[in-house]
Amino acid sequence: MAKNRPKFVTLEGMAILKAVRGTRDLLPPETELWNQVEATARAVFARYGFGEIRTPVFEATELFARGVGEETDIVSKEMYTWEDRGRADSDKGQSLTLRPESTAGVVRAYIEHKMGDAGMLQKLFYIGPQFRRERPQRGRYRQFWQIGAEVLGPAWSGADSPLRDAEVLEMLATFLNELGVKGWRLALNSVGSSTDRPRYVAALREALAPVKHLMCEDNQRRAETNPLRVLDSKDPKDQEIINGLPKIADYLDEDSREHFAQVKAALDACGVPYVVEPRLVRGLDYYTRTTFEFTVPDGSGLGTQNALLGGGRYDGLSEMLGGPKAPGIGFAIGEDRLILTLQAQEGETAAKKLDAFIAPIGVAVNPAALALAQELRREGLSVEVGDGSFRLKKSFDAADKLAKRMVILGEDEIASGILKVKDFSTGEQIQVTRAELANALRC
Ligand code: AMP
Repeated sequence: MAKNRPKFVTLEGMAILKAVRGTRDLLPPETELWNQVEATARAVFARYGFGEIRTPVFEATELFARGVGEETDIVSKEMYTWEDRGRADSDKGQSLTLRPESTAGVVRAYIEHKMGDAGMLQKLFYIGPQFRRERPQRGRYRQFWQIGAEVLGPAWSGADSPLRDAEVLEMLATFLNELGVKGWRLALNSVGSSTDRPRYVAALREALAPVKHLMCEDNQRRAETNPLRVLDSKDPKDQEIINGLPKIADYLDEDSREHFAQVKAALDACGVPYVVEPRLVRGLDYYTRTTFEFTVPDGSGLGTQNALLGGGRYDGLSEMLGGPKAPGIGFAIGEDRLILTLQAQEGETAAKKLDAFIAPIGVAVNPAALALAQELRREGLSVEVGDGSFRLKKSFDAADKLAKRMVILGEDEIASGILKVKDFSTGEQIQVTRAELANALRC
């Protein structure tokens, strides 16, 4: 074979097109699990008073630069950004970006639609794809899905109360338990208010100055531009230095300390277990006070990507985006990782079978077979139709794979109105009238 020939080619030598690196197709029967997870999220979130928000998958690049932070990995190297050409004088070109996360878009929508004017707490959830140019591996994709929620509103709506932080965390614990996720661990921290942060950042900068030259290139840069990001670094060589850096807990003012204490007290009252992790600052600039992450134990199908979901409070984000003061808290669950976890913990479940497979005998019976399928589907049954050109053996094999029962429909059955039904679980074959058929297939 010629050396430079592409790996996947048709006989005619055409390259076979594949999904772009880092993206993937979700196929049945796995999509059934995705739907089940999303249905559970919708049901649980509704019990806590959340309504669904759907924002565009692309936004002005500036939204993420301002909202997520220029110095974050996401904005500095992972965004899918392009110059969108204007199509008319009235439609100027602008820089657009596929959303790498949804909180910035939700807060933009909150500001744009003046949702704070109602004076009430807004509880919003979303389910949708996000895009980041990361190095693809198991549990890390360039298009991935997040199920997230945000609670925000004017301060007088109680949006800044620690009760909200605890409620969101308790809801997440309930959601994971209802799905049957085993062994999850909640890591919790407070990164302080906008007044605590500068004092801590100054202390970090000072502690990093004499050692930063020993760290990786990214951390050397972060030590200058945004020292808080050094704490997110996963570089194993730098961990020893990171472990010796000052802890944010020692820089929290009285209000932040009290806020954090109340979050923990409310979690204790609800019986939600957590572990305080002083270095948990998370990768996005907008977090204030409470930050958190849920992880799953080794062997849950995620390899090194064991963070199932993350979130935190963002009391200044609305103002950073030019909006009114609107404290808030939110989270994003990595749906791809949640699915991998459920598959690893539960084992693959067998695909659900259809109620019936109709096997027409002879092509002349095809129209009657389709009409029979239509009637049964209207009665709420799930039905597949074979084809009259199939030999009976082929129909049997297909039916056995797809359905619980097979209905044989030939000229004789149409004339007599008596149908043969084969049950694959018992191996029995019975005869029923057309009127009895739906019930015979239902049980
Ligand atoms: P973040 O928006 O970075 O706070 O991430 C929240 C959650 O989204 C993480 O805990 C992961 O479960 C998931 N996530 C983030 N990036 C990816 C990715 N590239 N592929 C799959 N899941 C991701």
